[in-house]
Amino acid sequence: MKTIVVIGGGITGLSAMYELQKWKKANGEDVRLVLAEASNQLGGKIRTVTRNGFLMEAGADSIVSRKLEKMPVVEELGLEQEVVYNATGRSYIYTDGELKPIPDDAVFGIPASLESLAKSTLVSAEGKVAALKDLYTTNKIFTKNDSIGAFLEYFLGTELVEKQIAPVLSGVYSGKLSDLTIASTLPYLIDYKEEYGSIIKGLEANKQKFKGGERKFLSFQNGLDTLIHAFEENLVDAEILKNTKVHKIEKENSHYHVYLNNQERIEADYIILSIPHTAAKSLINDPDLKNEFTGLKSSSLVSVYLGFNVPDSILPADGTGFITANTNELCCNACTWTSRKWGHTSKSGNLLVRLFYKSSHPSFASLKNMNKEELLEIARGDIHKSLGIDAEPIASEVTNWTDQMPNYLIIHPQSVEALESKMTADYPGIILAGCSYYGVGIPDCIKNGADSARKLVQMF
Ligand code: FAD
Repeated sequence: MKTIVVIGGGITGLSAMYELQKWKKANGEDVRLVLAEASNQLGGKIRTVTRNGFLMEAGADSIVSRKLEKMPVVEELGLEQEVVYNATGRSYIYTDGELKPIPDDAVFGIPASLESLAKSTLVSAEGKVAALKDLYTTNKIFTKNDSIGAFLEYFLGTELVEKQIAPVLSGVYSGKLSDLTIASTLPYLIDYKEEYGSIIKGLEANKQKFKGGERKFLSFQNGLDTLIHAFEENLVDAEILKNTKVHKIEKENSHYHVYLNNQERIEADYIILSIPHTAAKSLINDPDLKNEFTGLKSSSLVSVYLGFNVPDSILPADGTGFITANTNELCCNACTWTSRKWGHTSKSGNLLVRLFYKSSHPSFASLKNMNKEELLEIARGDIHKSLGIDAEPIASEVTNWTDQMPNYLIIHPQSVEALESKMTADYPGIILAGCSYYGVGIPDCIKNGADSARKLVQMF
């Protein structure tokens, strides 16, 4: 009997195993399916914590509805009745000691009409005039492989980019705009520039596509880990080994020895490595793959939740959170008003906020070594300064995601391609999967897990 081992029980590994189990059942295959997960629970970057009446997501907090709704898993796993959607509202930028609204009609902070530019309270009159260059210049310089930061600054001016666009866009794509390509962020902007002669006009003409808000994101009534539990309950034909860290993989002829932390060894014919690339690199431990792995990068993030015994109606009525523009004003990069955005996280209507501390922030160098109590103090300081709240929190959750946030830099696609082709040649039967390579969003990971399983089955 052949053995397939999936290493890593995050959403990618679970999706891979779910697909393998379906294939095994449909074809009556005589195959042993094993999933090894280092932690005592499945889910990886999806982990729900409930405390004192608050529901907090230590990792991912929601899923882009448009992407998940196209996938059969929610229905297959019987989760339709559990789905909840985000409440809509306005985002603010915290700057010069106050919360200023991101203007209406902006896409990632980029004005999608001249009126939106004119009404911005974030940019000076000079900054607005500079942005008009977009209307009368054509693009002869930039291709999709150039930096999105340079492209936007060239046409829309430095001030608009620094004060209104970069705070939003850097947050969404976890990186400096100078390090991110147009292709990996907003490739359509270069097409708009070509077609409409202007980024602003292009966004205006395509406004309907960006209409967000209603039902844009989803989660589940009892938290995102509902999805994890549903996968787990369905995996009846696979051996799920928790608290089982794989510490070495050795190749022998056409199969692999998989060494577990409990001194046991599994003989595997095929492996799906759905773990972060740093962990995959150390398991394979092959100096010949060093260069390819080096092209893959990750950054860090600390997430702090604070729950208060005060109603969340004390916050501005239309808001759902803010982003920090000036790194010298607050230590956090952003703050979500979680109870406002997600009713299921605080059924009493008490205030729950989540602060994000990213490695791109200058104060992160000192924050990353702080203990939980120190981080809570920093978060309380930020909340006091930005929202004027001094109350003692009645619930909190601090999670440190050191080097766990993949950053797809300019060289990312080439690095993945090179790594894939070396793996196929030198390690046939091992497939790399997950957020380090093929997209970080949960729907991307679910798809990639299932695709990896289908690819493996082709080799069987
Ligand atoms: P992981 O979740 O990292 O799973 C890998 C698993 O492998 C882990 O369980 C780990 O314990 C295990 N493992 C590692 N090494 C070994 C080993 N040697 N042996 C055995 N097991 C091992 N995405 C969204 O779509 N929406 C969001 O709102 C969102 N927000 C996010 C917020 C945060 C703070 C973070 C960290 C991520 C967020 N993401 C979000 C991204 C998304 O959560 C991840 O990309 C996705 O969950 C990754 O799944 P994965 O299975 O590929 O990897």
